[in-house]
Amino acid sequence: MRLWILQPQPQRYHYPIKRWTRMDAAFHRRKDKVVVIMGATGSGKSRLSIDLATLFPFSEIINSDKMQVYRGLDITTNKIPHSHRRGVPHHLLGDVDPSHGDFSPADFRCRGADTIADISARGNLPLLVGGSNSFVHALLVQNFDPRFNVFHSQALISSHLRYNCCFLWVDIAFPVLSQYLRQRVDQMLDSGMLDELAQFFDPDAASRTRFGLRKAIGVPEFDRFFNKYLGSHAGSDPLREHAYREAVRAIKDNTCQLAQRQIGKIERLRRAGWDLRRIDATEALTSGSHVWERQVLEPSVKIVKRFLME
Ligand code: ATP
Repeated sequence: MRLWILQPQPQRYHYPIKRWTRMDAAFHRRKDKVVVIMGATGSGKSRLSIDLATLFPFSEIINSDKMQVYRGLDITTNKIPHSHRRGVPHHLLGDVDPSHGDFSPADFRCRGADTIADISARGNLPLLVGGSNSFVHALLVQNFDPRFNVFHSQALISSHLRYNCCFLWVDIAFPVLSQYLRQRVDQMLDSGMLDELAQFFDPDAASRTRFGLRKAIGVPEFDRFFNKYLGSHAGSDPLREHAYREAVRAIKDNTCQLAQRQIGKIERLRRAGWDLRRIDATEALTSGSHVWERQVLEPSVKIVKRFLME
């Protein structure tokens, strides 16, 4: 299977999309406008955000992935590399010091609201992009109770939002997504994930309660391996090979489970009345950029244009 979403994409598009200017968008409004790109890990949110920010060049991206807010583990947490950002400003991406403990949904609500206010005051459009639905929920709802995680109970989720939001949900059929996620873990390992995790490994922290970045998928899974084999080289030790393969298998399983949980939370938000526009990116995952443009980018551009003109 070819993995299109991971490849750096050219800035040329096959169909004629006009770049918008601030003058085209109706920025007179009572509530700030925010475009929200949701979806499970690996669904193509980052790629869509960069494409949209290129076509609506007054956009700035706010990250809403709870592991990517921290500085460090860029490969393990899958942060979009600088070379793929096409100069689009990114906020709350690698900004938080991981030694300061958990960055909570309440912290995100506070920092995210300040960032939206700043972007809007500059006359620009905030694009909120990331897979942590508890962060998205905390930032957007009118009334937020920090003592209570709505996704950990069957409580009703409010659909009263404090911004004027346009929601795009990038969705991929789960069997296709999970196959892709398993391959993506192999690609991340090829790109240096093991070295990154080895440098981050701390035997004392591994035995204590985890907080912040130490919860990222990859850190706990490799602890047992590093405890025994840190510094040893791949060779003919079958026990080492077995421990390595077990860690990789656990990362793949946990990533697929994360994606499944994220989709479940998105479906709950939709049932609660959040007006999520689902974009099917299943075919685009395995086809060329023509399919991406026709099936994902083009409908997203239409939805955002309409939203900006409202
Ligand atoms: P919850 O309500 O359970 O807190 P959430 O929607 O806030 O979930 P998720 O994004 O689903 O947050 O993340 C839950 C867990 O998944 C994280 O604590 C972490 O273990 C893992 N995780 C999430 N994003 C990443 C990432 N980018 N890299 C590595 N692990 C991640």
